[in-house]
Amino acid sequence: MTAPLLPLANGELRLVVFDWDGTLMDSPRRIVHCLQRAATEIGAPVRDEASLRNIIGLGVQAAVRELYPDADDRFVERFATTYRACYLDAVDAPETPLFAGVSELLDWLEGRDVLLGVATSKSRRGLDQALEATGLGRYFVATATGDEHASKPDPSMLEFVMARAGVEPGRTRMVGDSVYDLEMARHARVPGVGVTHGVHPPGRLEGAAPLALLPDLEALLEAFRQAEGAH
Ligand SMILES: [Mg+2]
Repeated sequence: MTAPLLPLANGELRLVVFDWDGTLMDSPRRIVHCLQRAATEIGAPVRDEASLRNIIGLGVQAAVRELYPDADDRFVERFATTYRACYLDAVDAPETPLFAGVSELLDWLEGRDVLLGVATSKSRRGLDQALEATGLGRYFVATATGDEHASKPDPSMLEFVMARAGVEPGRTRMVGDSVYDLEMARHARVPGVGVTHGVHPPGRLEGAAPLALLPDLEALLEAFRQAEGAH
């Protein structure tokens, strides 16, 4: 990596904000499954996996409008409700493990007094359920969800988390697996860091000009370690 990921010296890095789905949690297969099931249940055309992975990262309403451009508000709400019911409760949908290295990464940052946050297109109920199930809730000083803010790439979620944490954009990094995360970061004047183990391939993420692009969270932790060692 050539770009300085983070000047960790002198407490310059104060806050790291993570996307959730496809970044910390390996949930895109469950999301695809439930988007396809929702379409089947309400009698809409079922989109293929590639089309669905493309829009993961947007808020669910924004995603439905991308997939079904002619949809009216009633269709969007029905689709979103059916999708969420599947995602939250379906016992036969794919499971959602954390990616390898999540707790090591969060522990390492926490151990250096870096604050942690989440900016996710999930619903508040969905995020709270995930934080409870994984035990990760205790790490985060602030979280922002898709039903409480405008959809990414609007900067609202990230600005909210920074305001809660009391940290300015220059001392913040946004980590995500989709171009929507990186574009949100740019709109909030926050350097974005891409991870490529989620929904969008490296070439697509590079187009959003991230500060750094890493294959996974273990590589991200190694990059942080190197950045620290460089000072
Ligand atoms: Mg994501």
